[in-house]
Amino acid sequence: MRHRKKNMHINTDILIVGAGQGGAQVAISLRQGGFEGTIAMVGDEPDAPYDRPPLSKDYLAGEKEVERLLLRKADYWEKSNVGLYVGKRVTSIDAEAHLATTDGEEIFHYKYLIWAAGGHARPLPVPGGDLAGIHVIRTREQVDLLRSEVEEANEIIVIGGGYIGLEAAAVLIKQGKKVTVLEAEDRVLARVAAAPISAFYEAEHRAQGVDIRTGVGVTEVNGEKGRVTSVVLANGDELAADLVIAGIGLIPNQDVIEAAGAKCSNGVDVDDLCRTSLPDIFSIGDCARHANKFARGASLRVESVPNAVGQAKAVVSVILGAPKPFTDVPWFWSNQYDLKLQTAGLNHGYDETIVRGDPATRSFSLIYLREGQVIAVDAVNMIKDFMAGKKLVENAICPDREKLADPEVPLKSLVI
Ligand SMILES: Cc1cc2nc3c(=O)[nH]c(=O)nc-3n(C[C@H](O)[C@H](O)[C@H](O)COP(=O)(O)OP(=O)(O)OC[C@H]3O[C@@H](n4cnc5c(N)ncnc54)[C@H](O)[C@@H]3O)c2cc1C
Repeated sequence: MRHRKKNMHINTDILIVGAGQGGAQVAISLRQGGFEGTIAMVGDEPDAPYDRPPLSKDYLAGEKEVERLLLRKADYWEKSNVGLYVGKRVTSIDAEAHLATTDGEEIFHYKYLIWAAGGHARPLPVPGGDLAGIHVIRTREQVDLLRSEVEEANEIIVIGGGYIGLEAAAVLIKQGKKVTVLEAEDRVLARVAAAPISAFYEAEHRAQGVDIRTGVGVTEVNGEKGRVTSVVLANGDELAADLVIAGIGLIPNQDVIEAAGAKCSNGVDVDDLCRTSLPDIFSIGDCARHANKFARGASLRVESVPNAVGQAKAVVSVILGAPKPFTDVPWFWSNQYDLKLQTAGLNHGYDETIVRGDPATRSFSLIYLREGQVIAVDAVNMIKDFMAGKKLVENAICPDREKLADPEVPLKSLVI
């Protein structure tokens, strides 16, 4: 006899879809702001909200316990009266009726819905791209699986020379593995940084023993008994691999909200208060596409913790009745070996770069200008330049170029 699951109707003032960085921050900031209404947060991972950045850094290295990934202690949510529904996926939304349904038995009746669903790692789009032994790094579960296979692996190929691929390479080479990074562009970090930064990181990785190959496309992955054995390059070369990591970008999770009628275009379109085109529905974090004033108003998604947190606070400001658009300078970081790269601003449309300091000292900055105005700063082991650079970007300053280039002149002194 078949049993039909009985639906459970739940009334909630706030429904947060996605128990990640942005979603958690909405709940936290609402309670901090004195909100006394009901809050439900639904997440399709089995975990309470956790910090993703360590997944390609100290967690991958086995230097951080899973409990230390959690954004709040396990009992915080109950104590704060936030209904946490983990291991559940929201599968449909009826925006008119203010209803959302999960793949479990829940039907939520909400007043406001916050779509904070992040994204999923882009799968490897070549024949053999789904063989066992090919990994992506987005969730704690994926990294646990990766870690369990790394032990047995010797030859590891990382496809994609972006932040996540390079961070993983830095961890794995330290574990004595043979690591090769394959990047389709002619330099690593090509999407996010200018050539001097790419050259610096390529040299660092090579000095650590990583085989960095740029300008190489992958056409196929070969396997035996369903498991990866080699990667084939566009030039016909075949590289043996026990394990492959694909770090080739993120696809925003928008299918459900798009089906509900929200305007989407490589992300959920939102305004400066993170409102979607649907009534009482907001979207934040990696999946939200917004016009960013630091990219001359270009519409984009910013994939970073500070962005998810800042957008969460903007939503909360609306709900609490004192709307405050999120217009902070975007910023990012990446840890590789003992190098801390911190970036302030967006370098879209830069027409000039200035290297500040000597990369050979492993402590320097790269400043991006557009028509003389500082629009971004990449600071490598240079926290002071990062802090001051953020201010230069925020205040749209056009400093004297010689002073910018002179590490003896503190960047702070150029902030007006
Ligand atoms: C390996 C790695 C390293 C990173 N390093 C850095 C770094 O150094 N610095 C930095 O600033 N940023 C870093 N980031 C990016 C940062 O983690 C993200 O920008 C941030 O987590 C975005 O938060 P979010 O809330 O938008 O999405 P997420 O934190 O991804 O949360 C979204 C959640 O929603 C869930 N979900 C999706 N669809 C549904 C649904 N239909 N129903 C229920 N739940 C759903 C997802 O599974 C996920 O759990 C890194 C990311 C990764 C993966």
